[in-house]
Amino acid sequence: METKVCAGCGASVAVASMSWTSDGERCEDCAGGHADVVGQGSSSATRVAVGALVAAALPLVFSYRTSSTTTVTMTDAAGVEHVASSGSAYDYVAIGGGGIALVLATVALLLNLKEKRKAAFVMLGLAFVVGAYQLARGFVF
Ligand SMILES: [Zn+2]
Repeated sequence: METKVCAGCGASVAVASMSWTSDGERCEDCAGGHADVVGQGSSSATRVAVGALVAAALPLVFSYRTSSTTTVTMTDAAGVEHVASSGSAYDYVAIGGGGIALVLATVALLLNLKEKRKAAFVMLGLAFVVGAYQLARGFVF
């Protein structure tokens, strides 16, 4: 089995388990802490996953909750007033952000099925959870 010396820890490692990083060829353990594994470029799945996370986090910062009760008075043909009040408490930022987060997380997941970035999986998974939470929060709470 062909081995090489890891640039990080100096251990002799099988070539097959070496990764090219910006600091040279490293074993799996040393390359693991490296955000940037050279050769695959920056992952599009990771970028989309970051976008999904941002969309999911946005409603935590901004909130346009319409908590006030909207009252609409309508007078029908007979001259009788009908008062319709809707107590909608939708948070449109949470609904929008959560929806976008779920869509972007799905896109990131599809991209990452090829790229298989661990960081992207973690981020898109988080975006799924937070996005779904935002959606539920926007509609229910
Ligand atoms: Zn190493």
